[in-house]
Amino acid sequence: MDDAVNHPPVNGIPALGLGTWQNTDFGACVASVRNALDVGFRHIDTAQYYENEAAVGEGISTSPVSRESVFLASKLWFDDLAYDDVVQTARESLDQLGVDSLDMLYVHWPAESYDPAETLAAFTDLKRDGLIDHIGVSNFTPELLREAQECCDAPIKANQVEMHPLLQQEELRAYCDRHDITLVAYSPLMRGEVGEVREVCDVAEKHETTPEQVTLAWLLEKNVVPIPKATSRDHILSNWESQFVELDDEDIAHIGGISQERRLGDPVFAPW
Ligand code: NAP
Repeated sequence: MDDAVNHPPVNGIPALGLGTWQNTDFGACVASVRNALDVGFRHIDTAQYYENEAAVGEGISTSPVSRESVFLASKLWFDDLAYDDVVQTARESLDQLGVDSLDMLYVHWPAESYDPAETLAAFTDLKRDGLIDHIGVSNFTPELLREAQECCDAPIKANQVEMHPLLQQEELRAYCDRHDITLVAYSPLMRGEVGEVREVCDVAEKHETTPEQVTLAWLLEKNVVPIPKATSRDHILSNWESQFVELDDEDIAHIGGISQERRLGDPVFAPW
């Protein structure tokens, strides 16, 4: 990794990543990845389910930023979590992305074909064979994390979950802190609706910035890794500059005191 990231990496993971869910237009996705790398992002998040790995790979390979400088993460969908399917589909991800290895491969959801012992054995073998550097999980509760840790010979590096001012994930964060698992925050901008949260707007007004920057700065302050999805260069640049917003204790307490809760992603197969 080079030193383009201004906020220090969290447990070796660049502290701010680019999300790419729903960025399915090939050209737009390539451009957003290139723009993100150009402004300084060094962490890109994709998934087989997003059907954009080829575009993400194209964005990385056509950027002046070297592949080795980028932390690249993908995820395997829940119907591909039997041993042989993990090995085969992980190789398909590498082909689509045009890379030799991934920095992190996540179990996207603990559902359907997920079997902790079998699935994580396959992930461990991918790591042993150098196809992935780290094993990640996503949408895991503390109970599921505990079970995964018991089954897996290699460390679980990160848990990617929904987190934003209306879903503060205190219990999960405490568990992850105790077990050296990095929390990666998806939908950190509440899918573009964080500007509707009054407390966040109060803080944004005080610092003469935007609710989106405040939210990302608040997550970074908690040593959580936000991965905002953005398509336009303006949004990408603004998100990157959130690391220069300095929140004080009063701001943190104001957002921390929000009592309303709202979960945006709640599919039938969710474990909660
Ligand atoms: P998000 O990042 O919270 O919000 C994305 C929306 O916010 C887009 O409409 C984007 O618009 C807008 N936006 C971005 N920057 C902005 C800014 N500075 N000002 C105003 N609006 C802005 O939502 P998300 O896509 O759900 O989550 C982020 C990433 O997390 C995903 O892309 C994906 O990589 C990951 N994720 C993972 C899971 C999982 O199960 N593991 C689930 C959901 C998401 P434009 O695109 O027009 O710029």
